[in-house]
Amino acid sequence: MQANQHADLRLNARWLITMDGQAEVENNKAVFIKEGRIVAIEDSANATWTADETIALDEHALLPGYINAHGHAAMSLFRGLADDLPLMTWLQEHIWPAEGQWVNSEFVYQGTQLAIAEMLKCGTTTFADMYFFPEDSVQASIDAGIRSVAFTPILDFPTNFAQNADEYIRKALAAHERFRHEALVTLGLGPHAPYTVSDEPLKEITMLADQLDMPVQIHLHETAFEVEQSLELYGVRPTQRLADLGFLTERVSCVHMTQINDSDIQLLQHAGASIVHCPESNLKLASGFSPTQKFLNAGITVALGTDGAASNNDLNIQGELKTAAMLAKAVAMDAGAFPAGQALYAATMGGAKALGIDEQTGSISLGKWADLQAVKLTGLAQQPMYDPISQLVYTDSSRATEYVWVAGKALLDSGELTTLNENTLRQQTQYWQQQIANA
Ligand SMILES: [Zn+2]
Repeated sequence: MQANQHADLRLNARWLITMDGQAEVENNKAVFIKEGRIVAIEDSANATWTADETIALDEHALLPGYINAHGHAAMSLFRGLADDLPLMTWLQEHIWPAEGQWVNSEFVYQGTQLAIAEMLKCGTTTFADMYFFPEDSVQASIDAGIRSVAFTPILDFPTNFAQNADEYIRKALAAHERFRHEALVTLGLGPHAPYTVSDEPLKEITMLADQLDMPVQIHLHETAFEVEQSLELYGVRPTQRLADLGFLTERVSCVHMTQINDSDIQLLQHAGASIVHCPESNLKLASGFSPTQKFLNAGITVALGTDGAASNNDLNIQGELKTAAMLAKAVAMDAGAFPAGQALYAATMGGAKALGIDEQTGSISLGKWADLQAVKLTGLAQQPMYDPISQLVYTDSSRATEYVWVAGKALLDSGELTTLNENTLRQQTQYWQQQIANA
């Protein structure tokens, strides 16, 4: 036995879906993990590697952890606070006032913990976050052991977090400086939306992102109102305005993208920007429909996000997968649109590409971090088993996620969280609920 053929952990998978290339299922494979990374993939029966520990996943599909490419994690503490309202009423009359009253470091740390627990339980290994006090949300993610991409929000107007665009940007750079050497964390710049950030900060963000090699995320074309307002104020649609400013590049992930015409698609295609599709948030706020298949036809990377729990109201990316796959067919009037394998790609590699971390995670590939999940597919809801990918996308498998590993560390083990205490989370959340409900 060669010394370098001994791993820390061996996972024997009944079904292996690597997402390294096309979505395909392999049978009875062993995945070996050493120092947090994937070091070998072999046939279980003839494996040459050995390992300190072996986990038998005889009834499970082993696949990359899901990447939730857009959300506002701490807003989980506002879940169910204001439902059934259109975006601008929801934001201006409910969410922004509540944020003004309650959001601080402690709110963000504890709200993010609640979000992480929910996301881990449905197989998420990386989440993107755009929220105030990013140093606290990042600390919560490091403490929980999950991978995160934190986009510091940037706006023109004051909040509890900063007074003007300059201060938001300064705080974004401070967070980047503090956490840039953390393996689990990427810091990005998060201009909130074209209607809340003016031209000068957008240009500065583009320059800084380039200098510091940071990903950028923006809400774009969320509603018809946003497009109409941009035409009135700037004479062009929001996507055109961003393109004219030089803002649209490969670093940028554009969240929502409803109300799309062909020229918007061409601009995104030309810039190499990606899309984060949040179908359930768009449906709940009646924002509009994103033409997923048209983006894919244009070669644009599509990722999936839940958005915040206040507009979804869950953070279950597996549920988002199914909604996205179904909605794309209705929008395209084509049952072949956004097939299951492509939807699974969007929830894994698509997310990694959109966030600029596809060399580290997103697929089960040699050398990448072992960010994995094992879903038990022997429940009645998954029977009979003709096609594991179909079962993962179209049946309710989220409660069947039994294991989640991030960088080789088990964060969900036989269905139990290993780094977060559910009773503590309940107590913390009740405290906030009482404060907010009695205000
Ligand atoms: Zn959002």
